[in-house]
Amino acid sequence: MGFDKPDLGFVVHLGAPSSPVAYYQQVGRAGRATENADVLLLPGREDPAIWSYFAHASMPTPQRVTQVLEALAGAERPLSTAALETRADLKRSTLEVLLKVLDVDGAVRRVQGGWVATGADWAYDHARYDRIGQARQDEAAAMLAYETTDGCRMQFLQSALDDPDAQPCGRCDRCAGGWYPVEVPVDAATAASATLDRVGVELAPRSLWPTGMAALGIPVSGRIAAGRNLSPGRSLARLTDLGWGNRMRELFATGAPDAPVDTALVQACTRVLAEWEWKLRPAAVVSMPSRSRPALIASLAQALAGIGRLPYLGALDAVDDGPRGEPGGNSAYRLAAVWGRFAVPDAAATALASLGGPVLLVDDVADSRWSLTVAAGALHDAGAAGVLPFTLAQALTSAEPPHRTSGAGGRMAPCRRCPRCRVWPISSTAASPACASSAPRSPTSRR
Ligand SMILES: [Zn+2]
Repeated sequence: MGFDKPDLGFVVHLGAPSSPVAYYQQVGRAGRATENADVLLLPGREDPAIWSYFAHASMPTPQRVTQVLEALAGAERPLSTAALETRADLKRSTLEVLLKVLDVDGAVRRVQGGWVATGADWAYDHARYDRIGQARQDEAAAMLAYETTDGCRMQFLQSALDDPDAQPCGRCDRCAGGWYPVEVPVDAATAASATLDRVGVELAPRSLWPTGMAALGIPVSGRIAAGRNLSPGRSLARLTDLGWGNRMRELFATGAPDAPVDTALVQACTRVLAEWEWKLRPAAVVSMPSRSRPALIASLAQALAGIGRLPYLGALDAVDDGPRGEPGGNSAYRLAAVWGRFAVPDAAATALASLGGPVLLVDDVADSRWSLTVAAGALHDAGAAGVLPFTLAQALTSAEPPHRTSGAGGRMAPCRRCPRCRVWPISSTAASPACASSAPRSPTSRR
């Protein structure tokens, strides 16, 4: 809430802040120099999940703290954060927060060229992280209580701020009844539906290998050779989107069963393909192997092949049981986990050789994109003329670079406006997870 405008006449929240105190601070910006001002909160069903994500995003596990300390202790020279990423499976933002915590605690020190361990004893402060976690949970519960209270809203907020004289205000919707319209004009509803039904987001290929992969035994560095890389692709929606993002979150919720795609999903994907202005139309469809959703991915690939009248060459083979570990963690570890884990079956390789066009590579969720990138290398080696990735969902928010500033040689910098930047308004930007402005259609990036 970077508004310093005394005559601000209204504040409307789409989605609730994570605590009544934060909410009070934000709506307090309205009406400082006006007779009155309107504030309206429109909570979202997804709010608790968003609060929970940010509450845990900067809390590393004891195992990963140990990884960082052991890596620094075993190094002969200072390690940069990039070098540490091949020795501890932590995302850059989490790693930077952790190093700051360890620095304050005296366990590490920043020196010329990176970080060193001081050798001081350090124990993971379970009690401290438990306390922080509990405090966030309490705040979330209080926010939900505010939304559903029968009593005066203002009195609730004042009590949350420990005001002993909190009294019913006589003006809020609980005291005086709702003042806001509850009918949605037909035109507005139609326009909103059309917007929410939009499909398709670009899936950008990775351009660089992670730094220092040799430390993990993977012989790659620098730029990914264009001839072995993915071409720009498409996804149906981001996991954080409104509209189709809601369907994606249901589909990929923990514990959701694997099942063939339904007609609505296929139709939505067909629209994405129809709007995709590819340079070369795909000549065949291939799918990624999957342990968790083989039916979903194969049925989608088959359906898209059928609609495009293209041959479906089947799924790639998973080598040695496929990727190790789970998605998440940092780029270097994720690449190491999928390196050499995909192979093109003989029959598909034979077909690829005579295709004369790129293949459409179908997967369920694009997260780090390293699986797709490594699979593209295998497909190129087998003779594919190009690889166009297509996924149902994208979960790129945390892996994406922060908001791009204008000019400055393409330098990236946090925008300081999106929710991820704002959640930590006081601490430095390094203490916040990546800026969310790169996901303009996300429900958490409204401005
Ligand atoms: Zn009231």
